[in-house]
Amino acid sequence: MAAPSDNGKVVILLGSPGVGKGTQGIRLGRELGWAHVSTGDLLRAALKAGTALGLEARRYMDAGELVPDDVIVDLVREHLAGMEQDRGVIFDGFPRTVPQAEALDDVLATVGRSVDRVALLEADDAVLVKRIAGRRSSPSGRVYNVYFDPPRRDGFCDDTGEPLIHRADDRPDTVRTRLAVYREATAPLIGFYGARGLLARVDGVGDIDQVQTELRGAVQG
Ligand code: AMP
Repeated sequence: MAAPSDNGKVVILLGSPGVGKGTQGIRLGRELGWAHVSTGDLLRAALKAGTALGLEARRYMDAGELVPDDVIVDLVREHLAGMEQDRGVIFDGFPRTVPQAEALDDVLATVGRSVDRVALLEADDAVLVKRIAGRRSSPSGRVYNVYFDPPRRDGFCDDTGEPLIHRADDRPDTVRTRLAVYREATAPLIGFYGARGLLARVDGVGDIDQVQTELRGAVQG
């Protein structure tokens, strides 16, 4: 259960593709009772549902490039409008550009909120590539890694028994593009939030529980 003082915080998980934002964000959300909002998951859901937005996003996602800012901001705005206004939120994979961060400030201001904390998960590129190559996702949203966090039965979700998916954008070529896009478009957010005193660095390498403990400390500190 979430402690009363935890209510209403807005937290951003920042970090390279493959650093563990999804795995850690889902867990943190579960532990604190906060919403975990992943724009990647929202886009994949739109794609699965066959919406116009999903179809438009697909070509960017498959290429490892960023979906245009206005599309993403509309998606997030709509999603937040459907949520309880005082619930804690963990953003995972959003914002990914400075214009998205500025738009998020505006959206939050309309409901009297602002970003409380930004946790930067860090890891070397070699670790990231292995993490991404080994990643398998369950339709339930749970993410496994064949090297670091395998399911009990190879290829199937522990929770639902569904077959695990190897995302098209987790293939090596696309991964290289995604890392380059991160450095160019997303890494400037480190300075953006650092200048506001909101940034906490978290070592993303190591045992999942250990990282979670460190992350939780950073978010609540
Ligand atoms: P993710 O699951 O967060 O790695 O996102 C998968 C893909 O969705 C990314 O490679 C982008 O193509 C797209 N995407 C997700 N979030 C964003 C965002 N905030 N801005 C632009 N594109 C995004």
